Amino acid sequence: MTDDRKIVAIRESLVREIALHGEQTFPEECCGAILGTYLDGERFIRKLMPFPNEQEINRERRFLITPEQYREAEKLARAEKLDLLGFYHSHPDHPAVPSEFDREHAFPWFLYVIVSIMHGKSEKLMAWVLTEDRARFVEQELRAEMQSPIPHKKEHI
Ligand SMILES: [Zn+2]
Repeated sequence: MTDDRKIVAIRESLVREIALHGEQTFPEECCGAILGTYLDGERFIRKLMPFPNEQEINRERRFLITPEQYREAEKLARAEKLDLLGFYHSHPDHPAVPSEFDREHAFPWFLYVIVSIMHGKSEKLMAWVLTEDRARFVEQELRAEMQSPIPHKKEHI
């Protein structure tokens, strides 16, 4: 069943990367691609590919990923032996819940991560997958993955 809530594993550093991107482009929406691994219905986020928002007007409420950016993301995914898992974007001064516009422009299977940025500060990150009939989004379970190994740990030994 694709309509089930599934696990999406993400490292804390990548959560921060999305949050920071959203804060930097505030009050406009940020966007980017999500690369990772899809295994038995679970998604493991490994890498982000930030894009400039190519929407020409109303970037406060809309984002646009061009076909060229999409191809770039696919190319990077192939080169890194990862899957193009989906896309992230921010909701300036709005909850991290997909809008009707998001639903109309989304594709089934892909993961949509949304970060809400309230008054310039990131507040909440949520992950969504569209049902196969495209009727609605199902919230996914975001699970923090441990960072490994911690690079500067040696200093404390
Ligand atoms: Zn949106």
